[in-house]
This record gives sequence, C-alpha cells and structure tokens, in this order.
Amino acid sequence: MLFHRRFEHRYPRIVRGQGASLHDDEGNVYLDAVGGAGVAILGHGLEELATQAAESMRHVSYLHGTQFTTPELEAYGERLVALAPDNISHVLLMGSGSDAVETAIKLAYQFYVGKTGTRRKRKVIATQPGYHGATGLALAVTGKPRDRLLFQGLLHEQCFVPAPDGYRRPEESGEACAEALERKILEEGPEDCLAFIVEPVIGASMGIGVPPPGYLQRVREICDRHDIALICDEVMCGFGRCGEWFASSLFDVKPDIIIQGKGMAAGLVPLSAVYASRTLVEGIHRDGGNFAHGFTFTNHALSAAIGLRVLEHVERHGLLAHVRRQGESLRERLRELTAFSWVDDVRGLGLFCGFELVADKATRRAFPRSVKLAERVLQRAMARGGNFYFSIGYLPDGTGDSILVMPPYNVTPAELDQLVAILRDTLTDLDPEVQALSRS
Ligand code: PMP
Repeated sequence: MLFHRRFEHRYPRIVRGQGASLHDDEGNVYLDAVGGAGVAILGHGLEELATQAAESMRHVSYLHGTQFTTPELEAYGERLVALAPDNISHVLLMGSGSDAVETAIKLAYQFYVGKTGTRRKRKVIATQPGYHGATGLALAVTGKPRDRLLFQGLLHEQCFVPAPDGYRRPEESGEACAEALERKILEEGPEDCLAFIVEPVIGASMGIGVPPPGYLQRVREICDRHDIALICDEVMCGFGRCGEWFASSLFDVKPDIIIQGKGMAAGLVPLSAVYASRTLVEGIHRDGGNFAHGFTFTNHALSAAIGLRVLEHVERHGLLAHVRRQGESLRERLRELTAFSWVDDVRGLGLFCGFELVADKATRRAFPRSVKLAERVLQRAMARGGNFYFSIGYLPDGTGDSILVMPPYNVTPAELDQLVAILRDTLTDLDPEVQALSRS
C-alpha cells in the first residue's frame, strides 16, 4: 500500500495525458492547470521527448559522475551556465529542490570555512513565509512553522525575517524588509552569518509573492556589506516559469548561488540544479580543494540528456515569450473572478499566478483555517475537471488561503479559457456556502 497524503477525495487514477489534459481510468478528463506544482512545464504525452529519453536509456544504464561524463551532460552544463547571470561559472545537477538547497548551504559553508579559516559562519537567515524543502537543512530554513513544528528537535537553528507582502503589509515595503534583514545580521553577528536564502518570487508558502522593486537589489548590497552568501531559491519561480530562465535576472540581481528544479526535465525524471558563482568555485578549488559533497545520482547523465532536450524545446518554440504573453492574459481573466466578494489580489509573473480567498476584502481577513476553503475549492474544481494548487496557513495566526495557477508553458488560449471557466463555475458553486460562512 502506498503512503498518500490524506485528502478526503479519492485520487483519480490517471492512465493517459495529452497537452494540458489528463484522462483517468473511468473516462474522466482533467485540465491540469498546475502540472503538479509547476513541474509538467510542457504538459503531458511528450512523444518526441519520450523517444529521445528511451534512446539514451538504450545505450547506457548509469554512469557515476566521478568516473565518466557524456556529451549531453557536458553540453547541458555549458548551456545552463551560459543562460545564467554572468557571475555564475558552474552548475551541479541534483535530483530535487530539497537536496539542491542542502547542497547550496553546504557549498556556502565550505567556501567560508576556507575563506575565514574558521567554522563560525553557520547561521542561515531565511524569509517567513518561504519554502525551501523537506530535508534537514532545507526544512530548517523553511519559513512555515506548520511544516517545521513536528521536526523542530531535529533541525539546525533558525533565523527568520519577514518577506515583503504587498497585499497585507504594503506599508512594510521592500526597503523595510531589507532593513529587517540587516538588523537580523547585526543582531546575530555578521561573522556568524553564512547566508541569506530567498525565493525571488515566493511560491507555495504564500500563494505567490512578487517582491517590490528594489528589494532584492538592497538584499544583494546587504549581503555584500556583511560578506554573507546570497542564495536565490528559484525551484518554483525559475527556469522560465516567470517568463525568463532566471527569476533573479528579472530583478537585476546576481546571486552567489541559484537553485532551480521542478520543470527542468518537464517532469519526466527528477532533476534540479545548483549554480555557483566563480568566486565560490575558485575559493573551493584553491589549493586543489574540491566540493566535499555528492549523491549517487548527482550529475545524472539521463536526466541531463532529457534536461537538454527540454531546454532546446523551450527555446525552439519561443516558449518564454509565450509564457510572458499568456501570463498577462491569464491574470487579466483571473481578475474577472474578483467580482466574487471573497476572491482578491490576483498576482504573479509569467505563468506563475495566484489569488487570495478572503473573508473580508477591506481588512484582508482570511477565513478560519477550520473552514478549509482552499481545499474545498480544489476538491470542487477537481470534480469539475480542473486540477489546481493551493497555499494555506501562511499568515502568522495560521490562517491564509490562496489558489495557484501554473499551466504548462505551451498552454493554448483555448485551454486558458477552459481553466478560467472551470474556476468560475467552481467559485459560483461554492458562493452560497461561502456567503453563509461570511455571515456567521
Ligand atoms: N524550494 C522551493 C522554492 C520549492 O517550491 C520547493 C518545492 N515546492 C522546494 C525548494 C523543494 O523541492 P522538492 O520538493 O523538489 O524537494
């Protein structure tokens, strides 16, 4: 028996997919408006990619990254670094966002042990809300108390600063949040601080958080001033999701380390990446040193071969421009849904979109978590043939409901019409219940 997360509804058993559609074993069709959590960036039924993957599999089963390389692995590494900000010189391929976050923190640590000759720099500052993964170090820096609570005893110490929230705390501008970071560094002692990890555009932990202009640039300056590494976690917002290969580039910042994941292999195999700056790599390589880290599946040749084809496919079909255009059009259509008294603040960049469900638009009060409103929306949408994603419980009092919409990069205008129609019907369906809740 598989361990499943326990939702109240039965999981549809998918037997086939095509484009943004999934078909179950009972003949139902679902429009997949999120591709997991932004993983299936090219949709489903990828015949050409599957054939290319099978071709790679036919020749070689597995190569250890310390013993062999392949032309695809080399080419993929070159291509990724060429697309990255120009301070980035190397990339390491991993299997998930969480292990890439672990890798990034260890990389920064090894660099600073070499640079300072001490082990003092070890505190990692992160944002609340923020999500960085489920493994030890990654969970320790995840600004979601709900996720951390049970495992608190196992985790490395944590330091959090607020992330900008343009909807509920517009007065706490990017400037104020950047200042909070600097205060935190000074409070903890810069000589003890290793890194600041931040999602350039916050994803799953708050239903999309686009930072105000200037915030990340101020963060970059502060990290430079106190000699701490800036780690940008682009697992969700990067690799084209916001309309550029690198989300940090949208804000004109050059991080020391960048992490990407999710859709890099379009979901066909697990794949993530840790990009490191020239300064970090040269520091570690000085005196013949090497990064003391790796997994069995690090720099996996088949994953790289698939990743390379995915990248080429996105480029060949001009999909980043399509993401930017369709993203604008999607947000425009989603804004029509704010006619519902409990739908507010459609936000996002590219095809990384979300909106809030609130009990009161004037005060921005969320519904009590016990109502499980986001879950209800997802369940009803699924019954109507639409697959969406949510963020819940991200406010300090444990409330907060957002719906996320992250269609594939090749989504068609007709599919966008269909997904907005499913959402509208779902919200209409729920409206009487929600109005009753608002009155009670
Ligand atoms: N960082 C961010 C920003 C994420 O959104 C996620 C996953 N949602 C992770 C890290 C962890 O990735 P994974 O689930 O692949 O370990």
